[in-house]
Parts: sequence; C-alpha cells; structure tokens
Amino acid sequence: MEILTREKCNQCHGNCIISNPAWVCFDAVEHAGDYFSAAREYFGVEEDDELPPEEIPCPACDGSGYIQSWLRLGEVMLAAKEDY
Ligand SMILES: [Zn+2]
Repeated sequence: MEILTREKCNQCHGNCIISNPAWVCFDAVEHAGDYFSAAREYFGVEEDDELPPEEIPCPACDGSGYIQSWLRLGEVMLAAKEDY
C-alpha cells in the first residue's frame, strides 16, 4: 500500500514564493546612485520596460507551498516514528 503524503516545502516554508535569486545577486552588489537606475543597468532593462519580479513562484514545489510524495506504508510508519 502507498500513501500520498504532503509536507510543507522547505524552500519557501509554505509561502509558495521565494525571493528572485537574480535580485538577491543584485542586492549583494555595491551600486552607487539611484537604486532603480542601478537595477535597470544591472538587468539590462530599458527605461520603460519592467524589471524582473522580485519574487517568483517557488521552483521546488511549483508554487504550491507543499511537496507531495507517494510513500510505502512502512516508510510512512518510519517517518511517523521520527516525527514523534
Ligand atoms: Zn516551495
């Protein structure tokens, strides 16, 4: 017998979204002057175009906040023992 289990995603902690890694990299870089001008230059975005989103759907759980997996009953019992 197999059981479908659902655990909170450990990447986004159930929030379904994560900080865009591209922005995390940008924030780590020293930039002089206006923040958004520096961001446009960093991302190669023209004045009227939109910057990349600061948050993106979590790739680990496809934005659902949960990880689902099929486990055999024995594995479920072992996991339950570890949680207890
Ligand atoms: Zn997630």
